[in-house]
Amino acid sequence: MSTIIATDRTDQEANQRPGRLAAFGQWMRRNQRVIRRIQWVVVVFYAVLIIVPAVRPLPDHTAHIWDNVTLFAQFLFWGIWWPFVLISMVLMGRIWCGVFCPEGSLSEWASRHGRGGAIPRWVRWGGWPFVAFVGTTVYGQMVSVYQYPKATLLILGGSTVGAIIIGYLYGRNVRVWCRYLCPVNGVFRLLSKLAPVHYRADPQLWQASRARGERPESVNCPTLLSLKDLQTASDCHVCGRCEGHRDAIALTARAPGEEIVHESSRRATLGDFILITFGLCGIAVGAFHWSASPWFVQLKQSLAVWLIGHDWMWPLQTHMPWWIFTNYPEQNDVFNLLDGSLLLAYIGVTGLVMGTALSLLLMAAQRTLSGFNARRLYHLSHALIPLAGVGVFLGLSAVTISMLRAEQVPLFWVGPTRAFLLAAASVWALKLFWQITGHYTTSASRRLFATILGAGSITVIAAAWWLLFWGW
Ligand code: SF4
Ligand code: SF4
Repeated sequence: MSTIIATDRTDQEANQRPGRLAAFGQWMRRNQRVIRRIQWVVVVFYAVLIIVPAVRPLPDHTAHIWDNVTLFAQFLFWGIWWPFVLISMVLMGRIWCGVFCPEGSLSEWASRHGRGGAIPRWVRWGGWPFVAFVGTTVYGQMVSVYQYPKATLLILGGSTVGAIIIGYLYGRNVRVWCRYLCPVNGVFRLLSKLAPVHYRADPQLWQASRARGERPESVNCPTLLSLKDLQTASDCHVCGRCEGHRDAIALTARAPGEEIVHESSRRATLGDFILITFGLCGIAVGAFHWSASPWFVQLKQSLAVWLIGHDWMWPLQTHMPWWIFTNYPEQNDVFNLLDGSLLLAYIGVTGLVMGTALSLLLMAAQRTLSGFNARRLYHLSHALIPLAGVGVFLGLSAVTISMLRAEQVPLFWVGPTRAFLLAAASVWALKLFWQITGHYTTSASRRLFATILGAGSITVIAAAWWLLFWGW
């Protein structure tokens, strides 16, 4: 009894003097209407950004970001918005999802007014985060999504329509799309593990509340989480609705990467492993590489010469509609069948080579620690999340840089900034390898060998980005 009274007093004191973080969490819970308004403003802004450029003529070569709505939208969307959404995951967890994302808001709105059906098994399939990420990444390259507004409307608009339909069909007042099907859900789940803040349930305070016989009003978690087990930031959208529930849930600070070192030992999955090695560090690298790769150009030229020599002209002369392969003759930007097929092959082979190399190095590191254990292998792969995230950020920001270059903005800072980010992420990944190995062995030599193999995987990833930014 005295423990419960003591806990009550502690809670009251905590409620009277919340830290800034907890106060922000409480503000979010109390201001759900403000958050809803923010969401609708973003929905309108997003709709304008993806629809208006798609119905306007393409800009000519004299157009600038500041005098052409299409270029302005392109810069804002791909150059600023997306790269900084990735950064927000690492800084604040998935607050983008809970407060700003138009797709999540629309899906939840549709679910509020929809059929409320049970979630089918195919929706819960664990392979969606990888398949949806790879599908949109590769398709984006096929149709040149960063360059052409119609392609942007098709991919982002299509995804939004999918989110609304799934919201309408399944679940009541929740985000089934976000939890299972969103193409970036897998990536955001991984990156948010690095965040220094998260909503966390304190198991002791939860138990104390139950022991007091409290029956608080239930909270509708939009991502269908079990609130009493809330320890990971991965699936939490930081919407603030559960803050203060049973006096046990609060927005809490933690050391960056702490979740990866501790929680991932129980939660890392095969899906995470594949998404990190073959997805973020494989297919995504290929998608950013191909257009700058001299190997791609050489291969294409050799194949074209060979085809012409054998009088097989149709792969060079066949073009597809713009929604299959890029086809904008007025911009002198048309993929023939050879270009398109080579693009797919290049991205696929890069994904396979990178994924296989990283898998082998991680398996060797895991073997150094002990006999084969799948969960440990998946856990080790989480050490690569900082580098995987920085790689995708740098790849996306290459669009920003090329648009700034076209505007003749001085870019002397770009190279050093890229090098600094890659180095910082590599050091962080190395530290995570060392910390994770400490979970599984007390032998310093085993930890050292495993970490050296981890360093090998870091080198493979860093080398791939070095090739793109400095090597070619
Ligand atoms: S999971 Fe995807 S659709 Fe859902 S809120 Fe996050 S980014 Fe938006
Ligand atoms: S656990 Fe659910 S209700 Fe709580 S903040 Fe996260 S998404 Fe919102």
